[in-house]
Amino acid sequence: MKWFCLVLLIAVCSYEYARTRTADQDPYLITDYSRLHPVKVERVTEGREVQQLIRILQEAKDKRLTVSIAGQRHSQGGHTYYKDGIVIDMKTYNNILSFDPSAKVIRVQAGATWKDVQDKINPYGLAVKTMQSQNIFTIGGSISINAHGRDLHNGSLINSVESFRLLTAGGEIKNVSRTENKELFSLALGGYGLFGIILDVTLTLTEDEVYRMTTEATSVQDYSCYFKENILLDGSVRMSIARISVAPEGFLTDMYAMNYRKDPGLPLAEHHTLKEYEQGVIPSKIMFHVNRSSDWGKNLFWSTQKLYFNSQQNVIVSRNNAMRSESAFMEYRGTGTNDLLQEYFIPVDEFAGFVADMRSVLLQENLNLLNISVRFVQKDEEAVLSYAREDMFALVCLFNVPLSDKEQAKIKPAIQKIIQEVIRHRGTYYLPYAAYPTQTQFQTVYPRQKEFFEGKDRYDPEHLFMNYFYEQYRGDGNHE
Ligand SMILES: Cc1cc2nc3c(=O)[nH]c(=O)nc-3n(C[C@H](O)[C@H](O)[C@H](O)COP(=O)(O)OP(=O)(O)OC[C@H]3O[C@@H](n4cnc5c(N)ncnc54)[C@H](O)[C@@H]3O)c2cc1C
Repeated sequence: MKWFCLVLLIAVCSYEYARTRTADQDPYLITDYSRLHPVKVERVTEGREVQQLIRILQEAKDKRLTVSIAGQRHSQGGHTYYKDGIVIDMKTYNNILSFDPSAKVIRVQAGATWKDVQDKINPYGLAVKTMQSQNIFTIGGSISINAHGRDLHNGSLINSVESFRLLTAGGEIKNVSRTENKELFSLALGGYGLFGIILDVTLTLTEDEVYRMTTEATSVQDYSCYFKENILLDGSVRMSIARISVAPEGFLTDMYAMNYRKDPGLPLAEHHTLKEYEQGVIPSKIMFHVNRSSDWGKNLFWSTQKLYFNSQQNVIVSRNNAMRSESAFMEYRGTGTNDLLQEYFIPVDEFAGFVADMRSVLLQENLNLLNISVRFVQKDEEAVLSYAREDMFALVCLFNVPLSDKEQAKIKPAIQKIIQEVIRHRGTYYLPYAAYPTQTQFQTVYPRQKEFFEGKDRYDPEHLFMNYFYEQYRGDGNHE
């Protein structure tokens, strides 16, 4: 009977999944990964070369239009477009300009992706220091949100940036580094496209290495101690990611940690070939849809994940491959709903207390939480809008949400309640996601926001570069 129910559920979910697949976005409107707030823009123009970009800025000024800058548009709060403005799509501005393997330095145009970088450097035994958990994102988009990932020792992405060239609102090209135009270094890295077009970036690299990945069961209660004693103190652990159960059985208490230990006994030459394709995407998608659909499905999905986690012992993987993580199974195109991210950064010692308080909020609110992963980010004092004022755990929460205005109006206060708990635990939240937090919450979490917006006024007094992040949080003060 149990098996019959399981097969029936999977069949219904597969049908539902296929039925709700829909075209991404209305072709006459633009939005981003979130599919929230579609607007009409003047046009989307592909970035091709510097003189063309300078001409676009001049045209925008002459016609009193705004300019927004887009990479893969995986940010989710209208950071890459603005109504009636010009959107510059930088994906086509993507050459690798120079690469010096002995100095471990690469210079790339901003529209290149991490995959482009990995493909270039992998044959030389080199790897990226810090990037997201996937390699699809553009370098310009990644440094403009100051990304982070599974790496434990290289900090957020700003640490890997040596310099970049910025095309400013005045049409000038500025070299920006820690010594030249250094104020812009801290503003435009994590600057959400508001200070100019990042043309090209010089990144420092590290050695590719071979890791032995093992998975261990832990719990929310024990995780901070477990992490400090077994992960941080063990210098051989180079990368780590943990998952918290969102199933009703073990809700926000059970955890699994996946740790990547360097194994110098394993020769890189035997393990460095880059994997190109994800395996088992369709069955994983169906199981994830089961997780999306009901509490029963969540219990089933977590039980299946536990079997998988327990089987993941001594998996041998190169650093470059561990950073090309598999995620296609999470891509979702539901009609009228979407899976959206929210991310909270919590000081290491506050972790268990915060998760317990978030659990209380979630038990009262009607939010469909699909997944929480936990990574570690080192303190960063360089970026003006730094999210890591001390060493933090980053809790990436994936929610399935309805997209209608009416339903979104219910999601917003629920997320704001979670943010209150974040604030009580000295935490911060990530800015590339939907603008649910209030302006007051933003100002509390980002005390240097005043400096950020004053910098914007100085470097772009006519507000040529514009997006909805600016409008929501600089705004008119009414965004509560
Ligand atoms: C499924 C998913 C997984 C994610 N995983 C992670 C993760 O592991 N770690 C993490 O830190 N974040 C993560 N994010 C968050 C974040 O949205 C992405 O890292 C991201 O969007 C960056 O790349 P992009 O090319 O999509 O940038 P976009 O979203 O296109 O742009 C991001 C910002 O950068 C600006 N920008 C883009 N190019 C330039 C340029 N050339 N010059 C100036 N400004 C520019 C844009 O205006 C915008 O404000 C994830 C998001 C999703 C949807």
